[in-house]
Amino acid sequence: MNARKKVAFYTLGCKLNFSETSTIARNFNDEGFDRVDFKEKADIYVINTCSVTENADKRFKTIVKQAQNVNPEAFVAAVGCYAQLKPEELAAVDGVDLVLGATEKFKITDYINDLSKNDFGEVHSCEIEEADFYVGSYSIGDRTRAFLKVQDGCDYKCTYCTIPLARGISRSDTMQNVLKNAKEISEKGIKEIVLTGVNIGDYGKGEFGNKKHEHTFLDLVSELDKVEGIERLRISSIEPNLLKNETIELVSNSRAFVPHFHVPLQSGSNTLLKKMKRRYMRELYTDRVSKIKEVMPHACIGVDVIVGFPGETDELFLETYNYLSELDISYLHVFTYSERDNTEAASFESVVPKNVRAKRSKMLRGLSAKKRRAFYESQIGSERTVLFEGENKEGYIHGFTENYVKVKAPWNPELVNTLSKVKLTKIDEDGLVRLEFIS
Ligand code: SF4
Repeated sequence: MNARKKVAFYTLGCKLNFSETSTIARNFNDEGFDRVDFKEKADIYVINTCSVTENADKRFKTIVKQAQNVNPEAFVAAVGCYAQLKPEELAAVDGVDLVLGATEKFKITDYINDLSKNDFGEVHSCEIEEADFYVGSYSIGDRTRAFLKVQDGCDYKCTYCTIPLARGISRSDTMQNVLKNAKEISEKGIKEIVLTGVNIGDYGKGEFGNKKHEHTFLDLVSELDKVEGIERLRISSIEPNLLKNETIELVSNSRAFVPHFHVPLQSGSNTLLKKMKRRYMRELYTDRVSKIKEVMPHACIGVDVIVGFPGETDELFLETYNYLSELDISYLHVFTYSERDNTEAASFESVVPKNVRAKRSKMLRGLSAKKRRAFYESQIGSERTVLFEGENKEGYIHGFTENYVKVKAPWNPELVNTLSKVKLTKIDEDGLVRLEFIS
C-alpha cells in the first residue's frame, strides 16, 4: 500500500492569504496528502506569497532554501499575489518547480503529477482579467479565532497599490455561503470569527464582472449577527468611505459584533490623499471616528497609515502627524512606502529619501505606542469580556477584550478558548493589562 504523501505550507502576508492556504490544504487532503509543519520533511512544499511583503524576492528565496534544507528532493510550488505579479522571477529561483497565478492556485493538485523535480520552474498564470470567479475559504488561525473570507479583489485604483493587479476585480461570496461557513466554524467550537477580504465594505458584487449588488455589507453584518452559536464577530478592515452610519449603529446594538474598527487612513494630508487616489478627504475620516465614538465611546479604532509617499514634504508629514495626535484613535499600523512595479505612484516625482521615510516611520510608531497606552489607560476599571488564547507564555495566558485590549493572567489551561467576565485593573511593565475575574 502506498503511504500518504506529505505537504507543507508557508504563508506570507495577510489574513486572506491564510484563509486561502487552508482551502488549498483541504484540496490536498482530499487528494490523499497529509499536512505537516513546514519544518518537517514533506514531499511538496507550497509557498503562498505576498506582494506587499518587504523584500518579497529575498524572503521567498530564503523560504525555498529552508524547504530544500529539510528535503532537497521535495517539489516546491509558489502561489499567491507575488506569483501572479512576477511569475518568471519566482520560477527562476533555484529549486522552484511550479508557479501558479491567481486563477490556477486553487487547482494546484491538477498541476502536480509524480512530484519529480523540474529543471526549470513551470509557470501557469493567466491574465488578471480572468480572475473574476470567487473561491470561498476560511482558516482557523489558532484554536480561538477563524478568518472567514467574504470578498476578494478590488475595483479601486489607489496609485500605490498592486493588489488589483494580483487579485483582480471586486467580487464576493454569496450570503448563503458566508452564513453556511460561519455556522460550520462555530460548530467546531471556535468562538471568534474575523471577516476578511481585500475591500470588504464593497461586499455584494458578484462573479464574472456582475456588478449588481445582491446584498450590501450592511445586510451581511445584520444576517451574521443572527447566526446562533457565533459568540464574537470582528470586522477586520474597512475603507472609511464604505463604513456607513447604519453599519456603525448596527455594531453598537449588535449581539456578536465587537466594538473594534480598523479603518485605513493612509495620509492625514488631503493633498496626498488626492495623489493616492483615495476616495475620501480627511474630513470624512474625522467624521467616521466621531460617529464611532459617539455611539461606542469604548470602541477601539486602528488606523493604517503610509509614510514617505512621493511628494510627502516635512510639512505634509507633520500634517499627518498632528492630525493623528489629535484624533481619538487607539493604535496605528505604519507602512513605509516602497515603490511597486506597474503602479502609477512608481513614476511620481518628489521621491522621499529612504532615510527620511525610516525616520518618519519611527515617529509614527512612537505615536502609536502613546495612543495605545492612552487607550488602555482609559479602559482601566471597566468590565469587559476576554477570549483567552491557547499559549502559555512564561507562565501567563493572554487574551483580548471585545474592544481589543490585550490582557494577561497567570496561566490556567482551563481558561483556554473561554470567554470570561473580567475587570481591567492596571497596566503591567510589558504594556499588557492585568485583570480580576468577575464571577
Ligand atoms: S482600496 Fe486601494 S489600497 Fe485597498 S486594495 Fe483597493 S486599490 Fe489597494
